[in-house]
Amino acid sequence: MTYQGVLTKMRTEFKDPIQYYLVFENDFIHMNQLLTKTIQMEFVGYQCLNCSLNKPIYRQGFCKSCFFDVPQAADWIIKPELSKAHLDEEERDLEYEKRVQLQPHIVYLANSSNVKVGVTRKSQVPTRWIDQGAHEAIEIVEVPNRYLAGITEIALKDYVADKTNWRNMLKNDVKDEDLVVWRNRLKAHIPAEAQDYYIETNTETQLVFPVQHYPKKPKSLNIVKAASYTGTLVGLKGQYLIFEDETVFNVRSNEGLVVKLSLL
Ligand SMILES: [Zn+2]
Repeated sequence: MTYQGVLTKMRTEFKDPIQYYLVFENDFIHMNQLLTKTIQMEFVGYQCLNCSLNKPIYRQGFCKSCFFDVPQAADWIIKPELSKAHLDEEERDLEYEKRVQLQPHIVYLANSSNVKVGVTRKSQVPTRWIDQGAHEAIEIVEVPNRYLAGITEIALKDYVADKTNWRNMLKNDVKDEDLVVWRNRLKAHIPAEAQDYYIETNTETQLVFPVQHYPKKPKSLNIVKAASYTGTLVGLKGQYLIFEDETVFNVRSNEGLVVKLSLL
């Protein structure tokens, strides 16, 4: 069986274990069913997620000119504290910015290789945690817009990491933390504007990934360079495919690439 299409991040379902789907224009592949199967992946070309042209992907699935143009790739996406829609100020497209920024946002703690603080739209819980490969997470603040979430994250960064180590996440080199204890400890450092939105009473969410065997030394696959790769799928974690020979492939960071997948 052969599938061809442009990569976008895998869709997921929060089940035990997490279910993963690769969605192409005319097909979707339930990736959990490919575990233990041998897959060939071939690089075919590029298809920018905005203009659809076969131009090298710059970042986030966009070619360079789209990346600096489309509202989905503005700075406030990565740096929520730069959000300005609540002030009625336009960055690239005020209507889009209002729609995305002026909705409930969550500041959370997630543990994927260490405990980190992060921000997401409420509608993206627990998808965001799955995408990061976190095995446990908890909401700490729910605020009405992205800006408030951003300044809360900035304030908490002095007391908790905001980055994770993808190698440790894939090696499953992790330990369980009591995120309720972390949350209670961080409460005092939430900025005054967001104190009223603190979530006092919730508990950890646990996430279980379909991984049969974790790599000891994960090697990242560059499919553009390799042109073709064949391997046996042994796990799905975060947005990574994990293969038996310890090769790993981050679907999300390869958005916009057109690939051909063959089941051998
Ligand atoms: Zn483009």
